[in-house]
Amino acid sequence: MSTLKAVRGTRDLLPPETSLWNRIEATARQVFARYNFGEIRTPVFEDTSLFARGVGEETDIVSKEMYTWEDRARAQSEKPQSLTLRPENTAGVVRAYIEHKLGETGQLQKLYYIGPQFRRERPQKGRYRQFSQIGAEVIGPPSAGSESPLRDAEVLEMLAALLDALGITGWTLEINSVGSSADRARYNEVLRAALIPVAPQMCGDCQRRAVTNPLRVLDCKVPEDQPIIDALPKITDSLDEASKTHFAAVLAALDAAAVPYTRNHRLVRGLDYYTRTTFEFTHGGLGAQNALLGGGRYDGLSEAIGGPKAPGIGFAMGEDRLVLTLQSLESAPPQVADAYIAPLGESLNPAALALARELRLAGLAIELGDGSFRLKKSFEAADKTARSIVILGEDERASGILTVKNFASGTQTKVPRTELVAFLAK
Ligand code: AMP
Repeated sequence: MSTLKAVRGTRDLLPPETSLWNRIEATARQVFARYNFGEIRTPVFEDTSLFARGVGEETDIVSKEMYTWEDRARAQSEKPQSLTLRPENTAGVVRAYIEHKLGETGQLQKLYYIGPQFRRERPQKGRYRQFSQIGAEVIGPPSAGSESPLRDAEVLEMLAALLDALGITGWTLEINSVGSSADRARYNEVLRAALIPVAPQMCGDCQRRAVTNPLRVLDCKVPEDQPIIDALPKITDSLDEASKTHFAAVLAALDAAAVPYTRNHRLVRGLDYYTRTTFEFTHGGLGAQNALLGGGRYDGLSEAIGGPKAPGIGFAMGEDRLVLTLQSLESAPPQVADAYIAPLGESLNPAALALARELRLAGLAIELGDGSFRLKKSFEAADKTARSIVILGEDERASGILTVKNFASGTQTKVPRTELVAFLAK
């Protein structure tokens, strides 16, 4: 029989790497709490039309990367429904915002999420078909201040603080404005017209995008197309006064907070819902898939999926890529327990379990050996998994004085049971 493996583009996360994932998530939660964000958890699958309407039919994600299936009706009263594993989480958050009438609170909603997303992309390092995103959204009615450029700047400043707290050094923030939906529509037409004479010399994708979604041409990475793209009209020249003022205010607030950024007029991002501010944080340690996170403002998204006017701004960071970056910056310390308890003989196994329980309740990480092991084997196992070995023989049990050997120093010490916790915690 052939052996079963994790599906292409998915993978198992094993210790000790999972402790890095946990540390990243704990740090993110702490930072989000300082900015007064609360956690939202939305379902992993949604009605397909949420993504078609929210993310955009013409995007790569919706047109070719979604895991979609027809969910069969189980009863006469049910209709079959097209469902999709979420390829991103913003549409789900905005759906929940509308469904629970969060706008009626009159307050800004500041929500973060951590969880798996699914896209049928070509797998490579840093790009998976199941990957995890840590993201946040600030959304609310305009009366709550949701359109203020200060919200954009605060989200970006929070991201700078989060990356710093994670110990990720050397990131770059690239920022752009794609304008209001009217600006974008105008620019789209300018771009469409400018592409007519040059598109035939471009790659196949660009030829298709020149007709269906001209903005996407700016994402093209094909080297031969770059001089043509650089000569195209820039979105900055299509922004109206309000969009220009908004963008200038975001940049001024970033300057005041000393958050460094680079302007990139080609940054339009792969999802249709973005308006005005768009941004990406990249890191050199990641190679081809160098985007750590991306995001932007989505002032019309709620209305696009049938909700009230609810401008918002958010981002999604690739947790897999945070892990890769941290691994490239530091060598992870091996995960070891505080002590390994070695019972000398199977008759001492119950006493060893009792001792392990006592030490674990005191907060220590304990590996429990087995009395059937010879002492040499216990020492070998302990050396690989713990900082110290505690030997529990008949004598030790009777006297209450335990023999502890610390592997780093090589010293062997007799320790009374009452002092064992303090001794091992050192
Ligand atoms: P997006 O939702 O496309 O704006 O992506 C936001 C971030 O999610 C990116 O900057 C990546 O860090 C991460 N990401 C997107 N797609 C993948 C993927 N297939 N595998 C791993 N990370 C991804």
